[in-house]
Amino acid sequence: MGLAIGSFLNVCIYRIPRKKSLILPRSFCPECNTPVRWYDNIPVLSYLLLWGRCRTCKTKISIRYPLVELLTGYVFAHLYVFAHYRHESPCVFIGYAVLSCALIISTFVDLELFVIPNEVTFIGIPLALVFSALCPGLHNELNTLRNFSLVGIYRLDTVIASMLGMLVGGGLIFLCGVIGKRVFRKDAMGFGDVKLMGMVGGVVGWKLAVAIFFVAPFFGLFMAIPVLIFKKVHLIPYGPFLSLATLVCILLQDYFIGIINVYIQLFAILFAGFHS
Ligand SMILES: [Zn+2]
Repeated sequence: MGLAIGSFLNVCIYRIPRKKSLILPRSFCPECNTPVRWYDNIPVLSYLLLWGRCRTCKTKISIRYPLVELLTGYVFAHLYVFAHYRHESPCVFIGYAVLSCALIISTFVDLELFVIPNEVTFIGIPLALVFSALCPGLHNELNTLRNFSLVGIYRLDTVIASMLGMLVGGGLIFLCGVIGKRVFRKDAMGFGDVKLMGMVGGVVGWKLAVAIFFVAPFFGLFMAIPVLIFKKVHLIPYGPFLSLATLVCILLQDYFIGIINVYIQLFAILFAGFHS
């Protein structure tokens, strides 16, 4: 399923920033305009059988196509196993899977064009609220509240948790951008990243949003160092690192939420100390 959906994500990555319809026309070779036949459209396999070239004009097909398909398949499998072993409802898996699709589209568009498409975040942000209402399991830190709330109120709690996640996730990146602009006197952080982290925070809640905010720069460094050394333009897209950090933090959420909880207790002790 992940491979097939990955194939559709490829269509999104190419067509969304070019403002083209996602449904029509059918997939075609951008070089010779020949429509791609169904047997040449099988995820990964067709790429291998065609030796990575168009059947008609022999133009090279970007390695991005099989890569996105494999990545989506891998991420879906990982998330499924994760949800399965934690005895989460299938809805939690679907929520994470939909989020990972949004992240994969954003990542590859950002890598190519340095933008995170509004089409993704403007659909993703309301979807995050809907998923939070439908599958309360997404906001695990609320589970202790379950015994105290009626079903309706509990679901309202999760929607509020989702909004709080959006505010914290988007807010942290926004703050970073404001400070960065003051310090470096040019745009340090795109507004696309703010919306992306708002969407992510809406799905994972405020604690994981904080964790992702601190984990993402570590991944970013791996790319920033070679770019700083070898390239003249010192610009790196940040969306891919936020996305990668999001997936890592979702899979290791018990660990990261544990760390955040330690800090909350630490601040609580400090705060109580100042007042006594
Ligand atoms: Zn062709």
